[in-house]
Amino acid sequence: MDFQFTAEDQQLRQEVRNFVESEWDAQGIDSFSNSVYSYDVHHVEDDRRIHEYTKKLADRGWYTMHWPEEFGGTGAPLSRQLAYREEAAYRGSPVTTPTFFAHTLMYYGQDWQKEEILGKIASGELINFSQGFSEPNAGADLGSLQTRAVQDGDDWVITGQKIWNTGGHMADIGHYLVRTDPQAPKHRGISYFIVDMHDPGITLRPLFDALGKQRWVEVFLDGARVPSRNLVGELNRGWYAAMTNMSFERSNVEAPSYRLRDLENFLDYAREARFSDGSIILDDPIARHVLADARVLIEIGRMISYQVAWIQSKGEVPAMESAFSKLFHDEMTPNVFGALNRLLREAGIFSVGDPRAPMNGYPQVNSYLSWMNRFAGGGREIELNIIAQRGLGLPR
Ligand SMILES: Cc1cc2nc3c(=O)[nH]c(=O)nc-3n(C[C@H](O)[C@H](O)[C@H](O)COP(=O)(O)OP(=O)(O)OC[C@H]3O[C@@H](n4cnc5c(N)ncnc54)[C@H](O)[C@@H]3O)c2cc1C
Repeated sequence: MDFQFTAEDQQLRQEVRNFVESEWDAQGIDSFSNSVYSYDVHHVEDDRRIHEYTKKLADRGWYTMHWPEEFGGTGAPLSRQLAYREEAAYRGSPVTTPTFFAHTLMYYGQDWQKEEILGKIASGELINFSQGFSEPNAGADLGSLQTRAVQDGDDWVITGQKIWNTGGHMADIGHYLVRTDPQAPKHRGISYFIVDMHDPGITLRPLFDALGKQRWVEVFLDGARVPSRNLVGELNRGWYAAMTNMSFERSNVEAPSYRLRDLENFLDYAREARFSDGSIILDDPIARHVLADARVLIEIGRMISYQVAWIQSKGEVPAMESAFSKLFHDEMTPNVFGALNRLLREAGIFSVGDPRAPMNGYPQVNSYLSWMNRFAGGGREIELNIIAQRGLGLPR
């Protein structure tokens, strides 16, 4: 890695700070919930709020600052991008495009897809996508997917079922992996299509998380049609485009800044707060060590994210490094929240909405909700497989 923060970067941080303070109202919702559309984020109302704010980020040229200039980025140096992304995350605001699909289009999209779809993402017009990869029998082993697409004239007709589709009920378009050659070895018969989520052949069924919040949908495709021009990359080579997508899904640049703010909020609370025996939380030396450990974890996460961003800024795909980053962050986040919640002792059982809950119950609810990221985008063991094979050169 080779970069350093300049005076201009520091100035940008100040601008971002002022902007977020005047334009973003988190409405008391914590950054973890906002960043993953979690427990107390109301999908429709908050989505509208996030959408409006996103357009303002886009107008300022910040939203896709890290994209290459030809696609609507600014060509800003890496240090400038990181200064923006860290500061916005630290202030608890949405930061940048949540769609890894954009990067797939940059590498594999047809010209019209790049112009039309990337343009709408860059302007903040399109923020929700349905990522149709997982199926009931194809999660970590994604290559086993069974949803079929059969050519019919200039269209492809899709039949099958997708699951764990985050925010699919809010999306107008989806990007889907389907089997187009059932005779080929499993990874070679898969194609990648852009799908119109309002197609009459598509039916959605809601899926709820452990706290009763709808996060996902199941997607049933029964004769859904997509035109051939919606193919991303080459026919039967969709697996490789999807893996580009996944390596961007695994980079986690904002997570350490969000967690640093969570830790600092906790420190503010714990300076005054007392255990039920009347003692102050921070007077406990073990509590201070736990908090210091959390700070170290966050800093390691930051360095790992910098490395991924550095590789991406050179136009390379950080396959092994982003697996490394995802593996680390997926454990760092619940470990930090878990440590904070344990420090609350018995008060840590009260959850969001309970007036007795410290810090509105966020340490509690996030300490177990954040484990779900460990499964999103392929499980922990899949990341370990990638590191073993691509990083250590070990056999499959
Ligand atoms: C919050 C969240 C959001 C998601 N959003 C989306 C989305 O928008 N679109 C989408 O398509 N999918 C989405 N998913 C689904 C996600 O991609 C899958 O959950 C993931 O791929 C794991 O698949 P699975 O749940 O079927 O678990 P399984 O594949 O059944 O795996 C279960 C466990 O076994 C382990 N395991 C599996 N295979 C191996 C192996 N070969 N060696 C060792 N261990 C193994 C896994 O690591 C895991 O711990 C989301 C999931 C979550 C949790």
